[in-house]
Amino acid sequence: MATLVSKRKKTTRRHGRPAPQLIFGDLWEYDPAPETADPKLKPRYDLFINGRFVTPKSGKYFDSINPATEQKLAEFALAGAADVDAAYRAARRAQRNVWGKLSGRERGKYLFRIARLLQDRAREFAVAETMDNGKPIKETRDFDVPMAAAHFFYHAGWADKLEYVAPGRKVAPLGVVGQVIPWNFPLLMLAWKIAPAIAMGNCVVIKPATNTPLTAVKLAEIFEDAGLPPGVVNIITGPGSTGGLIMAHPTAAKIAFTGSTDVGKIIMRSVAGTDKKMTMELGGKAANIVFDDAPLDQAVEGIVNGIFFNQGQVCCAGSRLLVHEPVAARFVAKLKTRLRTLRVGNPLDKNTDVGAIVSRDQLASIQHYLAIGVKEGAELWQPPCRLPAKGFFMPPTLFTGVTQSHRIAREEIFGPVLAIITFRTVDEAIEKANNTPYGLSAGVWTDKGSRILKMAAELKAGVVWANTFNKFDPASPFGGYKESGFGREGGRQGLLDYCQLV
Ligand code: NAD
Repeated sequence: MATLVSKRKKTTRRHGRPAPQLIFGDLWEYDPAPETADPKLKPRYDLFINGRFVTPKSGKYFDSINPATEQKLAEFALAGAADVDAAYRAARRAQRNVWGKLSGRERGKYLFRIARLLQDRAREFAVAETMDNGKPIKETRDFDVPMAAAHFFYHAGWADKLEYVAPGRKVAPLGVVGQVIPWNFPLLMLAWKIAPAIAMGNCVVIKPATNTPLTAVKLAEIFEDAGLPPGVVNIITGPGSTGGLIMAHPTAAKIAFTGSTDVGKIIMRSVAGTDKKMTMELGGKAANIVFDDAPLDQAVEGIVNGIFFNQGQVCCAGSRLLVHEPVAARFVAKLKTRLRTLRVGNPLDKNTDVGAIVSRDQLASIQHYLAIGVKEGAELWQPPCRLPAKGFFMPPTLFTGVTQSHRIAREEIFGPVLAIITFRTVDEAIEKANNTPYGLSAGVWTDKGSRILKMAAELKAGVVWANTFNKFDPASPFGGYKESGFGREGGRQGLLDYCQLV
């Protein structure tokens, strides 16, 4: 934790200089440090079909706004059925005539090129992502963009080694894949979806979320610059109904969806009875479990990272804290001290920890959950902080006195809200952590290796982090249990979901 020194309270003098007084809960007064890279925005973006930007047949466009300023960023094409058809036709042609016939080694060269071009434009993409989504620049600069490039690099490395994806078996592409992604990691989700699909020889029709289409169309510019053959990746923007058209299209041999469990269920119903392959990456309600022998300060950082640094808008966010009773009071006090130091505000400022919530609707939904929590009898706590006058901001929020039956402990809030529950025994921690319809991720904080292994075996979650949280690597498969979905993204397992065994 940073030493907390108030600039305003230099009262005593030491060695002729004012001695800073340590005041926990007070902040350095930093000067603004906005990121200044040019995001190179255009006023209007069209659909990327068959390697070209084309106007939508509907003739319609919609706005994307900057959630930190409420100002319009640009307008984006609203694709209808005819556009989705055109994209699938282009993808099928490309897959049959060009991409499916290229050797893995040749395909890999394109993926390497895309990764390098993304690195070249990393700062521009980070600023664009922050302006479209509201997450702090230090997240987009240090995580989203480098990790997206890493996924293209990783899968470029696989493209000429596909015989090792399923040892002893031969693999072949599925054909054309339809993909729909959410707004919380717009660029990274594109990379998670596109890189394994095209490395394996498939072609893609993909839709970014309605709120955050910007980095998708900017990535299309990179595909153009990389000389990716026309039709290999088609980027379609539009609302949920456009997503429905992509998922239900008869040309899609496989569909891959990341988003909420509710929409995932609608999609599964719409394709029931077809022979489409499917992967679903859905919601979560992860438990971060802190035992009394845990390194508490480190655990505080992990909890803060797990739920507050991306405004809690992470599918695997540690939105439930299960804390061992002997240390519960001390731990919550430490957590509150740390939350007082978080800076909420302009996401483009390099010092900002908590940026803007993606949209007015999402903010209203989170605030609705705060009211529910209070009504159900939980105790709400927020650090004092000044929120910007414009934009969709909210302070980090804790709820104590939460029980398993509270809706704030059961439902995905998707905001910077932590529900704190206590436990006494290991079995009780496991029981409470698993008592959720979701099963995407979990965190365990303890000094005992044997306890980590037991918890990892017993927790029904696709990933269990130990003494850390929210760590990702393209080589590590990610995905859920139960209502968090099925299928894996990343690693060898992720590639298996984009091929057929022949
Ligand atoms: P959402 O389900 O509302 O939307 C996701 C995407 O689906 C968007 O592109 C949207 O336009 C589209 N869509 C909406 N209705 C559709 C329909 N009927 N048919 C087809 N597509 C449709 O989710 P969101 O609010 O954008 O994202 C937040 C959710 O995503 C959270 O539940 C979060 O947990 C989940 N998520 C999961 C993972 C994971 O890896 N498991 C990763 C990120 C986000």
